[in-house]
Amino acid sequence: MSKLETTTVPAANNANSADAVQTLSLAASDLAAAAASIAQASAKIAQAVSAIAQGPDNSAAAPAPAPAAVSAPKSAEPAPAPLKGLAALKAASAEKKDTASAPLKGLAALKAASAAKKDASAEKKDAAPAPLKGLAALKAASAAKKDTAAESSAAPSPKPAAPKPAAPKSAASKPAPASKFSKPLNILVCVKQVPDTTEIKIDPETNTLIRKGVPSILNTFDGFALEAAARLKDNNPNVNIYVVCMGPDQAKAVLKESIGICADKAFLVSGRAFAGSDTLATSYILAQSARKIEQMEGIKFDMIFCGKQAIDGDTAQVGPEMAEHLDLPQVTYGLECKETDDENALLVEQEGEEGKNIIQITMPCLVTFTKPSFDPRFPTIKRKMAANKAEITVIGDSEEEFPDMDRSRIGLTGSPTKVKKTYTPERKKGGIRFAKESDDDTPAVLAGKLFTALKDSHVL
Ligand code: FAD
Repeated sequence: MSKLETTTVPAANNANSADAVQTLSLAASDLAAAAASIAQASAKIAQAVSAIAQGPDNSAAAPAPAPAAVSAPKSAEPAPAPLKGLAALKAASAEKKDTASAPLKGLAALKAASAAKKDASAEKKDAAPAPLKGLAALKAASAAKKDTAAESSAAPSPKPAAPKPAAPKSAASKPAPASKFSKPLNILVCVKQVPDTTEIKIDPETNTLIRKGVPSILNTFDGFALEAAARLKDNNPNVNIYVVCMGPDQAKAVLKESIGICADKAFLVSGRAFAGSDTLATSYILAQSARKIEQMEGIKFDMIFCGKQAIDGDTAQVGPEMAEHLDLPQVTYGLECKETDDENALLVEQEGEEGKNIIQITMPCLVTFTKPSFDPRFPTIKRKMAANKAEITVIGDSEEEFPDMDRSRIGLTGSPTKVKKTYTPERKKGGIRFAKESDDDTPAVLAGKLFTALKDSHVL
């Protein structure tokens, strides 16, 4: 009997062991083979005990209590959260050390149980509990334990507490991570107002863009540059974001939008002398404007951010040209910027041909931005309302405002670009369509047709 207790205890000690055994039985395919051999070895035991059960002794004929029910001590303490698999068995076994004579583990426990049953059977003295075989014994022990636990209202086994999902933290409640920089950082973002259309109309006489009557928006890539600046400011409240746009009075709209997104101050550079400027002249005027704003504000720009390109002009020249005018190191195709341990440098994540490059650049510097993997933020209602009221500083083209500006480098005279001809490339017509015409045209069939056509045309 004492051996029987020893073998059944690990399976029936408490809710832990019962659950653990159940878990084990569910994942017991590996143990099945072992159990089968145990079952074979136990066949004789079964026969013997069956004989006992059919014997004249009433006590022996009475339904035998399951081993688990016999030996499971009722725990006054609520069962701890169940563990799974072998780990649970180990834990249960370890807990049992106080009451069990020896902890049993996994297959070893099964074998020991079988051996103990053999002994008990050989003795054939007591009205032994009905012997069970291998895994079946473990399952029954588990089931019996469940019944016992269900009947017992004194010690209900609490359900394991499900791990609570972490409450999503709003950006507002998130504490700003500490900046590595002790000094304030000044960023100038160049934003361009572009027509909100892909159908760019060109004046056939002047060969310049017709902007009248076309709704305008903030250049998409400049939104990415603003986002990069905003992310630096998220990290460091000591970042000051300035925006500048060269354009007509209506371009104030994109400056206000920029304030709504993240900018602290906005400047419009506007004047007749600037009209007709190509990319070289534009970048020169913007470079001069950056110096002018520095003077006006009594600051130095640590970074100048531009979009990679304007979606109307599309040349992607202005940013790099500005860097040349201002003699600044530059990184193009930026995705995001981060502070480094060096207060005079910036880490730029750059889109590369085969992945991302991380470039450390010394400040002051210029970075142009392309589309990152994240979406740029929208203006909040609060910022939008503030932006509507914000003052836009207008810088004109007068000598007083730009005393050092080389006038031969601005406007049409300062623009070496000569536009010979502009045209919209013709859309190619013709081609072969592989469309579904009958139910037989499955995607696989259509792909096959495409493959054949490409092969026939020597494309493949
Ligand atoms: P990209 O080089 O593709 O722009 C890259 C980035 O530079 C932008 O994402 C942005 O960050 C920055 N950037 C570019 N332009 C500005 C800007 N204006 N303000 C702030 N940031 C900017 N355009 C006119 O508006 N009026 C004219 O009268 C005029 N005359 C022209 C005459 C000629 C002969 C030529 C060739 C062009 C003329 N243009 C004029 C077009 C003008 O030169 C370009 O719009 C301008 O140089 C920007 O070039 P892009 O669009 O290719 O910009």
